[in-house]
Amino acid sequence: MSQKDLHADVHPRTAILTRGFDPKLSVGSARPAVFRSSTYVFATPEEAERAFAITTGKIKVENGERAELIYSRFSHPNAEILEDQIVPLEPGATHAAVFNSGMSAIMTAFFAFARQGSSIVYTTPLYGGTTGLIHKFLEPLGVTGVPVAPGDSSGLEKAIREARDPSIVYIETPANPTLTMIDIERAAGAAAAHPARPVVMVDNTFLGPTFQHPLVWGANVCLYSATKYLSGYSDMLGGVAITNSAPVIQKIRGARGMFGTILQPDECWILDGRLSTVALRMNRQSKNAQRIAEALDGNRAFERVIYPTLFTDPEQKRIFEKQCAYPGALFSLVFKGGKDAAFDFLRRIRIARNAVSLGGVETLVCHPKTTTHSGMSAAELAESGVTDGLVRISVGIEDWRDLLADFEQALD
Ligand SMILES: *Cc1c(COP(=O)(O)O)cnc(C)c1O
Repeated sequence: MSQKDLHADVHPRTAILTRGFDPKLSVGSARPAVFRSSTYVFATPEEAERAFAITTGKIKVENGERAELIYSRFSHPNAEILEDQIVPLEPGATHAAVFNSGMSAIMTAFFAFARQGSSIVYTTPLYGGTTGLIHKFLEPLGVTGVPVAPGDSSGLEKAIREARDPSIVYIETPANPTLTMIDIERAAGAAAAHPARPVVMVDNTFLGPTFQHPLVWGANVCLYSATKYLSGYSDMLGGVAITNSAPVIQKIRGARGMFGTILQPDECWILDGRLSTVALRMNRQSKNAQRIAEALDGNRAFERVIYPTLFTDPEQKRIFEKQCAYPGALFSLVFKGGKDAAFDFLRRIRIARNAVSLGGVETLVCHPKTTTHSGMSAAELAESGVTDGLVRISVGIEDWRDLLADFEQALD
């Protein structure tokens, strides 16, 4: 019986610990060995021939069958183990590919599917690097970017319907840092109805893999910066693409082999040790964030506290309730006193740290307008709701009472 058959009938949290890794292949070691070899020995020349034919896409394979190992830019044992272990985290998924950063996962997926003369329809604001990738690389190569305003699910549907030869529909939900949500199912429905059959990709870094499952709503590819919640300790970079389609993963892995964007063996080993705790960490982080955001809501220092359980817009509430299991560990504070008040707060916090990035076990706070979003134009900032007074908080696993006390003393 293959590994896959053996673990098909257990729950995801069990499968993460049992699927994908066969101790016999690591001399009985309970944890995988790290295979650092750059090249692999073939049993026969025919095997070498077939491995190359699969890797270069000359032979189409069934069920995402992997080629025998050739050379570690294409794949290596630690990537294969990690990819098999990641699949159960995403309901509906059958295959994964791992990358050396979130941006390399996004870039590789874009180049696997974007065609010259096609268009890419995307929600705004996207992660800064993703926006840069579209403007600086895809557009000059003849791929037209079609931006859609934050939270406008019907506008996205319309943009997809009317797009000229769309190759990709790219969604980031919730948006950073305003947590504005997009209805993935509606977008996927419009994409499936378009004759060009664009690939629907969702950057699921903010609420996945625990609280939001894009493949269930019809997306084709779910992308992650594993640097954030998946790895969880702010100590490595990584990226993941997860899909329910064998041809899609074969195309993405083919592009990865050409670009050399695969995650290295040591990093794969680190990340697969973190997978079994991602749900535990995210649940604790989300509970902490909810308690703190709801306690701060109504404080006179703020124009608004932005957090899914505090949404007032009925459409945003509807999407949150339909699409997300829990509200997650990010919230934003919009200070009435603008940038001065925001900076005073950042200067006074003691437990939380002033840093960009998110998803780690430690609480991080940043001022998006002057840092992560400083590349945006005034018009884009205004449309996206990134104001002078906005501070974004990524809540960790500390005791929430200490964090709340820290924020309250910083407000005094
Ligand atoms: C961090 C981040 C990325 C980029 O990931 P890297 O691992 O830094 O390359 C992409 N999308 C989102 C939403 C992110 O937060």
